[in-house]
Amino acid sequence: MGNPDMGNLKQVLNQAYEGKEQARKRMDAAWDERRRLQKKSDSSWAEVQTAREAMNQAWNSQQSEWDQHKAGREAISKRIEFAKAIADRAYADMSKSFELASEAYSDEDHAAAGHYSSEGREHEEKLNNWNGEVKRLISIAESLVSPSSSFHSYKSIYESKMAAHERVKAEYQRAKQVHETAKKEFQAAQEKFKTAKAAFDKAKAADDAMWYDKDCLECGKKMRVRRDWERPSDYCKECWATFKRRREARNSNSLFREGNYVEFKGKKAKIIRQKVKIDKGYVDILFDGDALKNSGGDHGHITIDPLSDQVVYWRERDQSKNQANINSNKRKEHTKF
Ligand SMILES: [Zn+2]
Repeated sequence: MGNPDMGNLKQVLNQAYEGKEQARKRMDAAWDERRRLQKKSDSSWAEVQTAREAMNQAWNSQQSEWDQHKAGREAISKRIEFAKAIADRAYADMSKSFELASEAYSDEDHAAAGHYSSEGREHEEKLNNWNGEVKRLISIAESLVSPSSSFHSYKSIYESKMAAHERVKAEYQRAKQVHETAKKEFQAAQEKFKTAKAAFDKAKAADDAMWYDKDCLECGKKMRVRRDWERPSDYCKECWATFKRRREARNSNSLFREGNYVEFKGKKAKIIRQKVKIDKGYVDILFDGDALKNSGGDHGHITIDPLSDQVVYWRERDQSKNQANINSNKRKEHTKF
């Protein structure tokens, strides 16, 4: 990565991602809590409905029990009134008969007196009978018990269910608020992440465009280099490493010291150092012609790789540079050093 801003942008992006994921976790947890309380609220509401129905049923059945009770009381009252009226009449008849009997006794009309007396006793018996009936009916009326009221207990159950539901509903409302806040926070975190990602992607695209492929001049392998590098290398890392190892092999061998004379194919030859931009560590040897005087004149030229100890370039004095032999003969087959 060539652009130092990329590291910062990547860090900002990672933080924004982390923030977004944390916000998502909080939002999901708040949603679970909201759903839990929603279900709890639904089931407490169902309990309110059930309690309300039971309360209404109790109210209705209480009403019909009271109606029945009232009708029963009214019926017995009518029967009491009826029996009292007969008893009153019997009392009046009895009084009248005994009065007439008393008058007949005073008139010494014994036959009439006896008749009225017996008539009076019949009325008395009737009176006693109907008084007994009145007493019996009153005791029945007194035994009529008012219907007991289950309505109030159902009503208090309903009220406590309703209160419980209101509490759950309030809890739900709070959970809903918490969730909605968490959702907004997540959306904000997501926006922040999107912004950071767009900035990163844009910078990355620009950074990617800075890279291009270049062939290693030595081995031909493709290398990734950047347009903003001041001096992109012409050689790959492996080749640089080979150059270094080759230079070390050459420099550590006293035979290859510059100016040394050696024998090549029975002729005196001279180790030289070529003036090159990149010292790849090869050993150059000039032979034949002007070679021993110094470069510039007519001469043959071989190049040795001190790592593999092979001849990698070989040009006779009369060959042009284009005709040079390049082979892999062992150096020792040609040289006496
Ligand atoms: Zn290379």
